[in-house]
Amino acid sequence: MQIPLLDLKAQYALIKDEIDAAVHRVLESCHFILGPEGRALEEEMASFCETQYAIGVANGTDALTLALLALNIRPGDEVITTPYTFFATAETVAQLGAVPVFVDIDPVTLNLDLNHIKIKITARTKAIIPVHIFGQMLDVERLTEVADRYEISILEDAAQAVGARYRGRRAGSLGHAGTLSFFPTKNLGAYGDAGMVVTNDARIAEVVRRLRFHGCDKKYYHDDIGYNSRLDEIQAAILRVKLRYLEQWNEARRVKAARYDLLLADAAGRGDIVLPGRDPEAESVYHLYVVRSRRREEIMKALAGAGIGSAVYYPVPLHLQKAFEYLGMKPGSLPVAEGASEEAFALPCYPELTDEQQERVVEIVEKALYGVI
Ligand SMILES: *Cc1c(COP(=O)(O)O)cnc(C)c1O
Repeated sequence: MQIPLLDLKAQYALIKDEIDAAVHRVLESCHFILGPEGRALEEEMASFCETQYAIGVANGTDALTLALLALNIRPGDEVITTPYTFFATAETVAQLGAVPVFVDIDPVTLNLDLNHIKIKITARTKAIIPVHIFGQMLDVERLTEVADRYEISILEDAAQAVGARYRGRRAGSLGHAGTLSFFPTKNLGAYGDAGMVVTNDARIAEVVRRLRFHGCDKKYYHDDIGYNSRLDEIQAAILRVKLRYLEQWNEARRVKAARYDLLLADAAGRGDIVLPGRDPEAESVYHLYVVRSRRREEIMKALAGAGIGSAVYYPVPLHLQKAFEYLGMKPGSLPVAEGASEEAFALPCYPELTDEQQERVVEIVEKALYGVI
């Protein structure tokens, strides 16, 4: 039984008719860039994210770049963020000439540790980027209390958390702006690249809208040096179909995650597996189901041998990436993130995963840990 880490083919099979019709509709219209599908998606996403505005862009990385620009991040500014995330979170900061300041993570949730933020704030700190890692939000309201005192902006990197909630409020709706990625493997995935900025701030929305289209409000009149970063109509049409399923899919992921927790309880009780840590106020969308084990290599090898996908998130924390060598951070400087990088890995967890497949995954995990069972 082959069990991939994520089964996009199974998903497509379930919605093929609707997707094909949506793509066909765009092909017939021959309106490919900035048209009715994109506008409709923006309205539907703003409503879904419970924000005033949503602006489609080319990918989640550009969403970060354009949002940072709209927050007036300039060369030399400092931006506090987590080292335990996908590279783009800090890459975009550096790309603008600003300085990523990495703060260690919480050992339970693996999100930015809010207790360590204050001591990293300097006169140059302009923004904080919390990342809702693996689909579980952190407490942005609590972060806002600190940030407001120093007039620091909050940009939520919600690439992995579309639809997630914290005390009932949606990912992306609590900071000054939030960014989403529709990379194909994300919970709401396009069939190519796409991303979005969500915000309740009319000025941020306006700046992002202008920057994504060559700094231009009126065709051939350019007020800013901008970018070409648009979400195209085919992707928008596909995303509109998938958005209608998202709540149901996210709920299915939560059900699978809860089932893994039960199936893995024995291994967890023996201390060989650490289950994903929960914040009781957060409703996760389980972009990934990530466990920890000191015996990660053995387990992953056994899973691969049985045709089961698993993957390490993330093998190298950002402060130890070669690209960030110039920041001068040494191994041992952010021990919690480094520990997670050594032990964490994701198991298959997606709406289409069957009970039988899930049992098989756990059977192989236990076989790797305890021999024949
Ligand atoms: C996927 C991801 C991004 C980048 O999104 P792209 O659409 O691939 O550019 C940024 N931040 C996080 C946390 C991500 O997971």
